[in-house]
Amino acid sequence: MKKAVIAGLLGAATMALSGAASAQVKGVYWTTSGMFGPFNIRGLIPALPEDKARDITIPVSMWVIDHEKGVVVFDTGNNVAISGGPDNCKKYWAAGNCDFLKPSQKREDVIDAQLKKLGYDPAKVKVVVTSHSHLDHVGNIAMFPNAIHVLQKKELYQGWWPEKFQGRAVNGSFVLNDLASARDYNFLELNGDYDLFGDGTVQILSTPGHTLGHQSLKVKTKNSGTIIITQDAIWMKENLDGYPAGLNYSVKDYTDSVNRLKMMRDLEGTEIFMAHDQDQFAAKGNRWYK
Ligand SMILES: [Zn+2]
Repeated sequence: MKKAVIAGLLGAATMALSGAASAQVKGVYWTTSGMFGPFNIRGLIPALPEDKARDITIPVSMWVIDHEKGVVVFDTGNNVAISGGPDNCKKYWAAGNCDFLKPSQKREDVIDAQLKKLGYDPAKVKVVVTSHSHLDHVGNIAMFPNAIHVLQKKELYQGWWPEKFQGRAVNGSFVLNDLASARDYNFLELNGDYDLFGDGTVQILSTPGHTLGHQSLKVKTKNSGTIIITQDAIWMKENLDGYPAGLNYSVKDYTDSVNRLKMMRDLEGTEIFMAHDQDQFAAKGNRWYK
């Protein structure tokens, strides 16, 4: 009898604790650093059969997470210097990347302006998590000198010395200047998964393959459930359907990461949010998940 009462009390306490944990995330907002495109999807996914090809205009996804312990930014988009058209773009990025990706980023699309629109002071952002060191994800880490920057240790190496096919030229897919000006910042250098605030609400997931040390995020919200934010571990629906991305450090690691995220989605009965899916962003972007 006594045992049953204690077990019941423990059960209630556990439930109260898990309820409190999810309440610690006040909201998650999905925004974009302008758009890329239009261009043919096979430029990114050459494995896609021609009858499935289409022109796409894709988001450059960035996320703002308002946690009780501070504001987190997940990816900072394209560098501010490329705002305002191809002439500006070609002064900072390789001309070929500007011509192919056709970034539409305006100054007001950049992460600092996006934060202000949402009512946050960029100087008070506590944590910047960067999925990987490609030009459309790490572009503005230098705007956050006061934040703790979270990357996989290997990804910092990757950013400084990428494989030649990933774009080793000064202005390839990795733009050295995006990283160089932030070199003395505070970095939390990870080797795998990490529970950001120790409460299970913001989990960093190691998802290598697209780059050497790519990472994704899983966030528990109060009313919108668990949100899996893959960034470039899964670009868009076609990758989810089994057509691999055309740019990978390791196709094997990439495939393992896609499968890991899919299984997590199915086991937890939740949804995957992808970095560059035009249809998903049109349906679900530019909004809060609370
Ligand atoms: Zn990307």
